Amino acid sequence: MIKIIFDNSENKELFEGAAIPICRAFYPGEEVVSLADDERVLDDSAIRSEGDNITLYLKFEVGMVRVFTGERESAVSVELDGTRSMTGAVRDSLKKLLYTTLESGLDKGGLPWGCLTGVRPVHFLSKLIKKEGSEQAALKVLCEEYHVSDKKARLALSVYHKQQSILNGMRKGYSLYIGIPFCPSICMYCSFASYSMSAYGGMVDKYLEALRREMEETAGILRGESPVSVYIGGGTPTALEPKRLEFLFESLTKYFDMSKVEEFTCEAGRPDTMDDERLAVLKRYGVDRISVNPQTMNEPTLRIIGRHHTPRQVEEAFHRARNAGFDNINMDIIMGLPEEGMYELERTMTALSLLEPDALTVHSLAIKKGSLLKEKILEHDMSVLSLNVTEQMQDMVAKYVAGMGMEPYYLYRQKRITDNIENIGYAKSGKYSIYNVVTMEETQSILALGAGAVSKRVYDDPDRKRTIERCDNVKEIAAYIDRIDEMAKRKRELFS
Ligand code: SF4
Repeated sequence: MIKIIFDNSENKELFEGAAIPICRAFYPGEEVVSLADDERVLDDSAIRSEGDNITLYLKFEVGMVRVFTGERESAVSVELDGTRSMTGAVRDSLKKLLYTTLESGLDKGGLPWGCLTGVRPVHFLSKLIKKEGSEQAALKVLCEEYHVSDKKARLALSVYHKQQSILNGMRKGYSLYIGIPFCPSICMYCSFASYSMSAYGGMVDKYLEALRREMEETAGILRGESPVSVYIGGGTPTALEPKRLEFLFESLTKYFDMSKVEEFTCEAGRPDTMDDERLAVLKRYGVDRISVNPQTMNEPTLRIIGRHHTPRQVEEAFHRARNAGFDNINMDIIMGLPEEGMYELERTMTALSLLEPDALTVHSLAIKKGSLLKEKILEHDMSVLSLNVTEQMQDMVAKYVAGMGMEPYYLYRQKRITDNIENIGYAKSGKYSIYNVVTMEETQSILALGAGAVSKRVYDDPDRKRTIERCDNVKEIAAYIDRIDEMAKRKRELFS
């Protein structure tokens, strides 16, 4: 267990969000607790390591943060540079201090992303470039002050370049997200708003009617603007029967101006939901990008993770989509799935290379709260140690995707991601997903409809800092249906 003791409850509230992820990154699978200790007098007994436990005592002074671990004491000064608040500056200093303490003081090796704990390292780099005035200066700060490895810094810079060219060629407007929270079965690692068709299929019609109402009530709120990109996700939208899928698209085209949409994506994640009839509906309504997600091409793993399909079905679904005329097909895989190592991952990559998709999104397994996987780990049914992603795995995947003619164009990190690495979206030239880039860089407002969907309004005043306001729909299907007028009202207020 890692125990972080803050010198008072106010500091705990302000800074535990910065301290906990660093400890978790160094000690994956270890329990990390944070406490406030207003009364305790700082002495050796308060800060000693107890058995295998590690205790970090944090003390905040004017312009200084100190950490005590056992006999050791380290400190860092807080530098104000005019670009952030005092709290932001303290948070930054605390992360750097904890990083160096855990890396050198406790003889742990470094982490690929250093002390960056946010989900969007490329966004962080783009802010650094603005602040430092050049890419070179920003890279220096990233590597020397934030301890990011050279390799990851170069990866972030190449993704930054790609994103800049995508964003520069894009018209102004907003993006539209529609969530369909139904799946044929629930995957072991899933933490999305998703409900199995077998248990919740009876609610689909009411859900689609509520969604239609939300579209009707919100379509006019971005006055005169039309969506730049539309993304239908979930869940697995193609889990809907063709007639219901048709109802969804009919509603969408009735309320929104789709004439200027530059990219229209529909997730078709489960190959067992992709038949000719459904593909024909998608095509008829102008979907031009789909995502067929095998996650792995190893049948035993597919069974373990609760996906009721085979690698053969993935191949058949892929060919069916190509034959139906889809020329932008993304595939998702996950590294670090239970019982998978280099051999299994290479089998997946070999099978996917033969299919020649246009884009590949490579995730590292994240053990999320509320997922069946997390429950299994808690029940000691499965060891965290059997789940790991090595640098060797990442390098092998990168070699395969380069051979497939793809380049990295977006990346993000997730909380609790295995081995603290990143998810990378690769694509062939011209097959980059606009929606993925704008959600990562937060350059456009997102109107998001459906259970669990999160709308964001981006205020991009060139004279002021960019600010973002968000509004979450309720996740639970029954609550979403019952409270649909409230969901629409919240969005009208957000965009008013
Ligand atoms: S297909 Fe995706 S949304 Fe559906 S259960 Fe699996 S991980 Fe969750």
